[in-house]
Amino acid sequence: MNTHKCPNIEEFKAILKKHDLKATPQRLAVHEAMMGLGHASADMVTEAIKEKGTAKVTVASVYNILTHLAMLGVYHYRLSANNKMYFDVNTFKHLHFYDQMNHVFRDVIDDELVSLIESHLSRKRVKGYKIEGFDIQLVGRPTRKKYTIG
Ligand SMILES: [Zn+2]
Repeated sequence: MNTHKCPNIEEFKAILKKHDLKATPQRLAVHEAMMGLGHASADMVTEAIKEKGTAKVTVASVYNILTHLAMLGVYHYRLSANNKMYFDVNTFKHLHFYDQMNHVFRDVIDDELVSLIESHLSRKRVKGYKIEGFDIQLVGRPTRKKYTIG
């Protein structure tokens, strides 16, 4: 099993079913857009759906779907430095790179680093807390002025 993949549309339907949620055209359109975008705000997802014309949505309805699914753990979310909520279609353990100029997140897949950090953290204690995980974000900006995202 490849654990470094987001759920495809069939797997997503099964996830919805597991949570007693109907596979509405809106929810399916949101996931389809998320599969293409990876990390995206409600605005970006709405725009992508409107471009494709697969379902009738508003930013508010998309935001509701995204936050609901994030609450259920189907998506992760991150707050960007320009104060936008970004949803992440990938919920497996990974690090992020954040482009501080374009406000874009990229996944950094590095299992070796993840297990190094995990084994190091297994010896750490924070008094009064149970450590549940870690969240690492590399930051940077493009080296060239003209930079294409993708
Ligand atoms: Zn990610």
